[in-house]
Amino acid sequence: MVALDLDRTLIYSRTAIDRSGGDPTAQGAVDPADLRCVEELDGAEQSFMTVGAIGHLLDLRERATVVPTTTRTPAQFERVRVPGGPTRYAVTSNGGRLLVDGVDDQDWHRSVRTVLAERSAPLDEVVAELDTRLGGWTRSRRIADDLFCYLVVDLATMPDDFLPHWSAWCGAHGWAVSRQGRKVYALPVGLTKDAAVTEVLRRTGATRLLAAGDGSLDAGMLSLAAAAIRPPHGELAESDWRRPHVAVATAAGIRAGEEMLGWLLARLDPDVVPTS
Ligand SMILES: [Mg+2]
Repeated sequence: MVALDLDRTLIYSRTAIDRSGGDPTAQGAVDPADLRCVEELDGAEQSFMTVGAIGHLLDLRERATVVPTTTRTPAQFERVRVPGGPTRYAVTSNGGRLLVDGVDDQDWHRSVRTVLAERSAPLDEVVAELDTRLGGWTRSRRIADDLFCYLVVDLATMPDDFLPHWSAWCGAHGWAVSRQGRKVYALPVGLTKDAAVTEVLRRTGATRLLAAGDGSLDAGMLSLAAAAIRPPHGELAESDWRRPHVAVATAAGIRAGEEMLGWLLARLDPDVVPTS
Protein backbone atom coordinates (compact mmCIF):
# COMPACT_ATOMS: atom_id res chain seq x y z
CA MET A 1 0.00 0.00 0.00
CA VAL A 2 1.23 3.49 -0.85
CA ALA A 3 0.06 6.54 1.14
CA LEU A 4 0.59 9.82 -0.68
CA ASP A 5 0.25 13.33 0.65
CA LEU A 6 -1.28 15.56 -2.03
CA ASP A 7 -0.17 19.20 -1.93
CA ARG A 8 3.52 19.77 -2.66
CA THR A 9 4.05 15.98 -2.75
CA LEU A 10 1.81 14.59 -5.50
CA ILE A 11 0.28 17.82 -6.88
CA TYR A 12 1.65 21.35 -7.14
CA SER A 13 0.11 24.81 -7.36
CA ARG A 14 1.74 27.34 -9.71
CA THR A 15 3.78 28.86 -6.88
CA ALA A 16 4.99 25.42 -5.75
CA ILE A 17 5.92 24.09 -9.21
CA ASP A 18 9.22 25.75 -9.92
CA ARG A 19 12.05 25.98 -7.41
CA SER A 20 14.68 26.84 -10.03
CA GLY A 21 14.47 30.60 -9.45
CA GLY A 22 13.37 31.15 -13.05
CA ASP A 23 16.58 29.73 -14.56
CA PRO A 24 15.36 27.32 -17.29
CA THR A 25 18.60 25.32 -17.12
CA ALA A 26 18.52 24.91 -13.34
CA GLN A 27 17.60 21.64 -11.70
CA GLY A 28 13.87 21.72 -11.03
CA ALA A 29 13.05 23.95 -14.03
CA VAL A 30 9.86 22.83 -15.74
CA ASP A 31 8.69 23.12 -19.34
CA PRO A 32 5.02 24.21 -19.27
CA ALA A 33 4.33 21.63 -22.02
CA ASP A 34 5.22 18.94 -19.48
CA LEU A 35 2.45 19.99 -17.06
CA ARG A 36 -1.06 18.58 -16.80
CA CYS A 37 -3.78 20.28 -14.76
CA VAL A 38 -5.35 18.00 -12.12
CA GLU A 39 -7.44 20.58 -10.23
CA GLU A 40 -9.54 23.56 -11.23
CA LEU A 41 -11.20 26.10 -8.97
CA ASP A 42 -13.84 28.47 -10.33
CA GLY A 43 -12.67 27.66 -13.85
CA ALA A 44 -9.02 28.46 -13.15
CA GLU A 45 -6.24 25.86 -13.27
CA GLN A 46 -5.09 25.26 -9.71
CA SER A 47 -2.82 22.21 -9.37
CA PHE A 48 -0.56 20.25 -11.68
CA MET A 49 1.45 17.08 -12.15
CA THR A 50 4.13 16.38 -14.76
CA VAL A 51 3.45 13.88 -17.53
CA GLY A 52 6.17 11.65 -16.04
CA ALA A 53 4.60 11.77 -12.58
CA ILE A 54 1.22 10.79 -14.01
CA GLY A 55 2.84 7.79 -15.75
CA HIS A 56 4.49 6.69 -12.51
CA LEU A 57 1.24 7.09 -10.57
CA LEU A 58 -0.70 4.97 -13.07
CA ASP A 59 1.99 2.27 -12.78
CA LEU A 60 1.83 2.44 -8.98
CA ARG A 61 -1.94 2.07 -9.05
CA GLU A 62 -1.64 -1.10 -11.13
CA ARG A 63 0.61 -2.72 -8.57
CA ALA A 64 -0.47 -1.34 -5.18
CA THR A 65 -3.35 0.22 -3.26
CA VAL A 66 -2.63 3.95 -3.58
CA VAL A 67 -4.25 6.05 -0.83
CA PRO A 68 -4.33 9.85 -1.20
CA THR A 69 -3.78 11.13 2.34
CA THR A 70 -4.47 14.82 2.78
CA THR A 71 -5.30 17.58 5.23
CA ARG A 72 -7.79 18.88 2.65
CA THR A 73 -11.46 18.57 3.52
CA PRO A 74 -13.55 16.14 1.43
CA ALA A 75 -14.88 19.07 -0.67
CA GLN A 76 -11.34 20.36 -1.33
CA PHE A 77 -10.15 16.84 -2.12
CA GLU A 78 -12.98 16.14 -4.55
CA ARG A 79 -11.77 18.97 -6.79
CA VAL A 80 -8.63 16.94 -7.54
CA ARG A 81 -8.88 14.64 -10.55
CA VAL A 82 -6.57 11.83 -9.46
CA PRO A 83 -5.03 10.28 -12.61
CA GLY A 84 -6.53 6.85 -13.17
CA GLY A 85 -9.85 7.88 -11.61
CA PRO A 86 -11.11 7.94 -8.02
CA THR A 87 -9.24 5.65 -5.62
CA ARG A 88 -10.94 2.98 -3.47
CA TYR A 89 -9.70 4.67 -0.28
CA ALA A 90 -8.82 8.28 0.47
CA VAL A 91 -7.92 9.91 3.78
CA THR A 92 -9.03 13.55 4.11
CA SER A 93 -9.34 16.15 6.89
CA ASN A 94 -5.93 14.98 8.16
CA GLY A 95 -7.39 11.59 9.08
CA GLY A 96 -10.76 12.82 10.27
CA ARG A 97 -12.48 11.32 7.22
CA LEU A 98 -11.97 8.00 5.51
CA LEU A 99 -13.61 7.99 2.08
CA VAL A 100 -14.42 4.50 0.79
CA ASP A 101 -15.38 4.59 -2.91
CA GLY A 102 -15.96 8.30 -2.37
CA VAL A 103 -18.37 7.78 0.56
CA ASP A 104 -17.53 9.15 4.01
CA ASP A 105 -17.19 6.22 6.44
CA GLN A 106 -19.31 7.18 9.44
CA ASP A 107 -17.92 4.52 11.77
CA TRP A 108 -14.42 5.87 11.27
CA HIS A 109 -15.50 9.46 11.77
CA ARG A 110 -17.31 8.63 15.01
CA SER A 111 -14.27 6.82 16.38
CA VAL A 112 -12.07 9.84 15.57
CA ARG A 113 -14.50 12.21 17.33
CA THR A 114 -14.35 10.02 20.44
CA VAL A 115 -10.54 10.12 20.51
CA LEU A 116 -10.47 13.90 20.03
CA ALA A 117 -12.98 14.52 22.82
CA GLU A 118 -10.77 12.57 25.22
CA ARG A 119 -7.46 14.19 24.36
CA SER A 120 -8.00 17.75 23.14
CA ALA A 121 -9.77 20.98 24.04
CA PRO A 122 -12.92 21.52 21.93
CA LEU A 123 -12.64 23.35 18.62
CA ASP A 124 -14.81 26.27 19.86
CA GLU A 125 -12.39 27.01 22.69
CA VAL A 126 -9.38 26.94 20.34
CA VAL A 127 -11.05 29.20 17.77
CA ALA A 128 -12.07 31.66 20.50
CA GLU A 129 -8.46 31.83 21.71
CA LEU A 130 -7.12 32.13 18.16
CA ASP A 131 -9.47 35.04 17.46
CA THR A 132 -7.83 37.04 20.26
CA ARG A 133 -4.48 36.71 18.45
CA LEU A 134 -5.40 37.87 14.93
CA GLY A 135 -4.00 41.03 13.35
CA GLY A 136 -3.56 42.95 10.12
CA TRP A 137 -1.25 40.13 8.95
CA THR A 138 -4.17 37.67 9.06
CA ARG A 139 -5.78 37.23 5.62
CA SER A 140 -8.50 34.85 6.82
CA ARG A 141 -9.38 32.44 9.60
CA ARG A 142 -11.14 29.26 8.51
CA ILE A 143 -12.71 26.22 10.13
CA ALA A 144 -12.20 22.93 8.29
CA ASP A 145 -14.79 20.16 8.46
CA ASP A 146 -15.75 21.19 12.01
CA LEU A 147 -12.54 19.44 13.12
CA PHE A 148 -9.69 21.97 13.02
CA CYS A 149 -8.88 25.54 12.06
CA TYR A 150 -6.28 27.44 10.09
CA LEU A 151 -5.16 30.91 9.21
CA VAL A 152 -4.08 32.26 5.86
CA VAL A 153 -1.39 34.78 6.76
CA ASP A 154 0.87 37.39 5.23
CA LEU A 155 4.25 35.88 6.09
CA ALA A 156 6.11 39.17 5.63
CA THR A 157 4.15 40.91 8.37
CA MET A 158 3.27 37.99 10.68
CA PRO A 159 4.85 38.81 14.07
CA ASP A 160 7.88 36.63 14.85
CA ASP A 161 6.44 35.59 18.19
CA PHE A 162 3.02 34.51 16.91
CA LEU A 163 3.99 30.94 15.96
CA PRO A 164 5.96 30.08 19.13
CA HIS A 165 3.27 31.56 21.43
CA TRP A 166 0.37 29.99 19.54
CA SER A 167 2.19 26.62 19.42
CA ALA A 168 2.75 26.77 23.18
CA TRP A 169 -0.91 27.53 23.91
CA CYS A 170 -2.05 24.75 21.58
CA GLY A 171 0.43 22.29 23.06
CA ALA A 172 -1.02 22.90 26.53
CA HIS A 173 -4.53 22.19 25.20
CA GLY A 174 -3.92 18.99 23.26
CA TRP A 175 -3.51 20.70 19.89
CA ALA A 176 -0.58 21.03 17.49
CA VAL A 177 0.42 23.77 15.03
CA SER A 178 1.76 23.25 11.51
CA ARG A 179 2.69 25.94 9.00
CA GLN A 180 2.54 25.09 5.31
CA GLY A 181 3.33 28.04 3.09
CA ARG A 182 0.88 30.83 3.99
CA LYS A 183 -1.38 28.51 5.98
CA VAL A 184 -1.01 28.05 9.74
CA TYR A 185 -2.97 24.99 10.87
CA ALA A 186 -4.04 24.07 14.39
CA LEU A 187 -5.18 20.48 14.80
CA PRO A 188 -6.15 18.26 17.75
CA VAL A 189 -3.19 15.93 18.45
CA GLY A 190 -5.34 12.83 17.93
CA LEU A 191 -6.30 13.90 14.40
CA THR A 192 -3.58 12.17 12.40
CA LYS A 193 -3.06 10.79 8.94
CA ASP A 194 -1.22 7.79 10.38
CA ALA A 195 -4.23 6.67 12.45
CA ALA A 196 -6.41 6.62 9.33
CA VAL A 197 -3.68 4.96 7.24
CA THR A 198 -3.41 2.26 9.94
CA GLU A 199 -7.15 1.71 9.60
CA VAL A 200 -6.83 1.31 5.81
CA LEU A 201 -3.97 -1.18 6.33
CA ARG A 202 -6.25 -3.14 8.65
CA ARG A 203 -9.14 -3.12 6.18
CA THR A 204 -7.08 -4.05 3.12
CA GLY A 205 -4.84 -6.56 4.87
CA ALA A 206 -1.83 -4.87 3.28
CA THR A 207 1.36 -5.82 5.10
CA ARG A 208 3.81 -3.27 3.72
CA LEU A 209 3.40 0.49 3.66
CA LEU A 210 5.29 2.98 1.50
CA ALA A 211 4.67 6.71 1.88
CA ALA A 212 5.61 10.18 0.67
CA GLY A 213 4.93 13.58 2.21
CA ASP A 214 6.46 17.01 2.77
CA GLY A 215 4.79 18.49 5.87
CA SER A 216 5.08 17.94 9.61
CA LEU A 217 1.56 16.47 9.44
CA ASP A 218 3.06 13.70 7.28
CA ALA A 219 5.82 12.78 9.76
CA GLY A 220 3.76 10.11 11.55
CA MET A 221 2.76 8.48 8.27
CA LEU A 222 6.35 8.50 7.00
CA SER A 223 7.54 7.04 10.32
CA LEU A 224 4.94 4.27 10.10
CA ALA A 225 6.06 3.20 6.61
CA ALA A 226 8.60 0.48 5.84
CA ALA A 227 10.20 2.91 3.41
CA ALA A 228 9.29 6.49 2.60
CA ILE A 229 10.51 9.60 0.82
CA ARG A 230 10.13 13.32 1.29
CA PRO A 231 11.04 16.25 -0.99
CA PRO A 232 13.86 18.70 -0.26
CA HIS A 233 11.19 21.42 0.01
CA GLY A 234 8.46 21.92 2.63
CA GLU A 235 8.09 21.92 6.37
CA LEU A 236 10.06 18.70 7.04
CA ALA A 237 12.94 19.99 4.92
CA GLU A 238 12.90 23.31 6.79
CA SER A 239 13.40 21.46 10.08
CA ASP A 240 15.85 19.01 8.43
CA TRP A 241 13.63 16.12 9.58
CA ARG A 242 15.33 12.79 8.87
CA ARG A 243 14.83 9.10 9.61
CA PRO A 244 17.02 6.20 8.50
CA HIS A 245 14.24 4.70 6.34
CA VAL A 246 13.07 8.03 4.85
CA ALA A 247 14.92 9.13 1.71
CA VAL A 248 15.14 12.74 0.52
CA ALA A 249 14.45 13.50 -3.14
CA THR A 250 17.14 15.32 -5.13
CA ALA A 251 14.88 17.56 -7.22
CA ALA A 252 12.71 20.25 -5.63
CA GLY A 253 9.31 21.56 -6.69
CA ILE A 254 7.13 19.53 -9.04
CA ARG A 255 10.15 17.53 -10.28
CA ALA A 256 10.38 16.08 -6.77
CA GLY A 257 6.84 14.76 -7.22
CA GLU A 258 7.90 12.81 -10.29
CA GLU A 259 11.11 11.61 -8.64
CA MET A 260 9.33 10.43 -5.48
CA LEU A 261 6.72 8.42 -7.41
CA GLY A 262 9.52 6.74 -9.40
CA TRP A 263 11.34 5.99 -6.16
CA LEU A 264 8.22 4.41 -4.64
CA LEU A 265 7.60 2.40 -7.80
CA ALA A 266 11.10 0.96 -7.58
CA ARG A 267 10.44 -0.16 -4.01
CA LEU A 268 7.18 -2.00 -4.60
CA ASP A 269 9.13 -5.13 -5.38
CA PRO A 270 12.19 -5.51 -3.12
CA ASP A 271 13.96 -7.45 -5.90
CA VAL A 272 13.84 -4.52 -8.31
CA VAL A 273 16.99 -2.42 -8.28
CA PRO A 274 16.04 1.25 -8.08
CA THR A 275 17.21 3.35 -11.02
CA SER A 276 17.09 6.75 -9.28
MG1 LIG B 1 1.91 18.52 1.58
